[in-house]
Amino acid sequence: MYNSIIIGAGIAGSVAARELAEAGKKVLVLEQRAHIGGNCYDEKDGHGILIHRYGPHIFHTKEQKAYDYLSRFTDWYAFGHEVAANVHGKLIPVPFNLNTLHMVYEKEEADELEKKLVEAFGMESRVPILKLREHEDSGIRRIADYVYENIFLHYTMKQWGQTPEEIDPAVTGRVPVLISYDNRYFQEPYQGMPKDGYTSMFKAMLAHPDIEVKTGTDARERLSFTEDRVLFDGNPFTGEVIYTGPLDELFDCRFGRLPYRSLRFDFEYLEQEDYQGRSVVNYTVSEDFTRITEFKYLTGQKAPGTTIVREYPFAYTGAEGEIPYYAIACRENQELYERYRELLAGIPNVYLLGRLAEYRYYNIDAMVMKALELTEKIRGVS
Ligand code: FAD
Ligand code: UDP
Repeated sequence: MYNSIIIGAGIAGSVAARELAEAGKKVLVLEQRAHIGGNCYDEKDGHGILIHRYGPHIFHTKEQKAYDYLSRFTDWYAFGHEVAANVHGKLIPVPFNLNTLHMVYEKEEADELEKKLVEAFGMESRVPILKLREHEDSGIRRIADYVYENIFLHYTMKQWGQTPEEIDPAVTGRVPVLISYDNRYFQEPYQGMPKDGYTSMFKAMLAHPDIEVKTGTDARERLSFTEDRVLFDGNPFTGEVIYTGPLDELFDCRFGRLPYRSLRFDFEYLEQEDYQGRSVVNYTVSEDFTRITEFKYLTGQKAPGTTIVREYPFAYTGAEGEIPYYAIACRENQELYERYRELLAGIPNVYLLGRLAEYRYYNIDAMVMKALELTEKIRGVS
């Protein structure tokens, strides 16, 4: 009855479903949540404010292919996303850039440090904080120490429970020091929000006569994996199976849980037009939460009231209701992941795709690209 079964209706599963359906396959999508969209899901809250239930999501990409692909299913509310860090009550632009430099140092010193940075790295360059800290010039190291202490150390401790040195350097490398006057958080040419929200974009993507979506269905109730085959409702299934959930949970965590960081989102509606005057403020030296997002500034929505969300990170334990958000990249965890992956090695046509199933830190656009790549491979066009 179905040619392909996809587990998870997030961006990975939804793009894959659409691509396979357009290639003429009958596709079943099983999603355990009550809704599609995965972590990109948005909805109006009780006060009519469009919120992102699983944390603020800003689409950004330099990949024309990913942008064009999603543009088939949505128009865009385009904007250059900016973030401020609250450092002892003062708001400064993050990533740390030359504007930030001039805000935190007196003019003469800032001019001198700017010259050093430009000479050392060149205008428009991007320098990871850990690299900046190793620089031979003591003036540059002074900036690095400021940035490390005021932007990275405490925020990273909250987010990961570890110092910037202890985590994968690629993580802090996502937010490099910018030798430029660009205050935007991302420098990619395409950035913004689906005009009518993410959920509406996902609805359009999954609206295909050959895609059937079953929400509220844990795939493990219908699928099981033996050494060499997949059983669907107890019968052998030989079509493609694309799994986008956590790999350990597919096997009842038999080797132990893959570690993840999770988040608690505390939403608050305020009967005032404005709370912080901007979309995101990172709390980099104080508070237990990492950041506050004010949704109306992300979506451009006009409303008399406003909804904000605070994010409190914690270690995922697998308890009922917890959601694994961030894979924790390190050799030990990768080895555990590989043990689980080997359990699928003998089964043809089973693919792991997505932030959870691949145990990797992907943005939305990278997920679109990976899903297109995989389905091209399945369709035999690459
Ligand atoms: P998910 O969205 O997690 O989808 C997986 C789906 O599989 C889920 O819906 C889950 O319920 C379902 N599932 C799992 N197991 C089963 C099962 N057994 N049966 C049935 N269904 C199952 N990226 C950006 O580009 N920009 C951003 O601004 C951004 N902000 C982020 C903020 C936060 C707080 C987080 C956590 C991530 C952010 N990301 C952002 C990353 C983005 O969320 C991911 O790249 C994207 O959601 C990954 O999509 P996915 O389909 O792999 O996973
Ligand atoms: N980070 C930080 N301070 C900031 C912003 C980011 O220390 O103000 C670090 C932190 O370790 C974070 C990482 O840089 O996990 C990557 O930040 P990014 O905003 O890309 O994380 P996301 O919220 O997208 O997962």
